[in-house]
Amino acid sequence: MTDIDGVQHQRTVPFGKVQPQVWQKQIQNHAINFAAPIKEVLSKIESPFVTAIADCISPQASFYDGKLFLVGDALALFRPHVAQSINQAALHCLLLERYLKGEITLSAYEEEVLSFAHTTLLWSREVGSEYLHSIAGHLYHKMRHRVARRAQRWGVRL
Ligand SMILES: Cc1cc2nc3c(=O)[nH]c(=O)nc-3n(C[C@H](O)[C@H](O)[C@H](O)COP(=O)(O)OP(=O)(O)OC[C@H]3O[C@@H](n4cnc5c(N)ncnc54)[C@H](O)[C@@H]3O)c2cc1C
Repeated sequence: MTDIDGVQHQRTVPFGKVQPQVWQKQIQNHAINFAAPIKEVLSKIESPFVTAIADCISPQASFYDGKLFLVGDALALFRPHVAQSINQAALHCLLLERYLKGEITLSAYEEEVLSFAHTTLLWSREVGSEYLHSIAGHLYHKMRHRVARRAQRWGVRL
């Protein structure tokens, strides 16, 4: 995350600031595994930027006794590998309607959305770690996700 001027960035190295040798190394080391259309796209990037991928989750989905809600990405932001964020936003819409109609309680709403958020967050870390970490790191994330899924079936959120 250090740019051509020696400045270290926390989240994004902007266009025109990525060190050419860093970009070339990425292309050489990783592009070999990509499918042909992705390789073509990569070869056409003249001015790359780099942005760090992060995730976060709120410990709570509703506030002020069910009058204020965090929904979609505002509740939980997943790493993109599992492409589940629209699913999450849709789940919130469906469940909020049921809560507003009085079909489910506030605590049932909280439990359902936080359970989905926690297991999906762990899943996205598991998938991401397959590419980023050592086998030990990947196994750690995989185990955490599997245990959380199992616990979810027993009604426990880890
Ligand atoms: C490049 C990219 C690719 C993606 N691909 C996928 C994918 O394949 N599958 C998938 O499931 N998800 C994908 N996502 C994630 C998905 O787009 C988001 O998870 C989803 O849009 C979240 O919906 P949201 O309503 O929570 O937030 P948003 O869609 O971000 O909506 C928030 C809205 O609030 C508005 N806003 C912000 N501040 C204010 C303010 N102060 N006042 C008023 N309005 C404000 C914003 O303008 C925005 O319209 C992708 C995201 C990106 C960026």
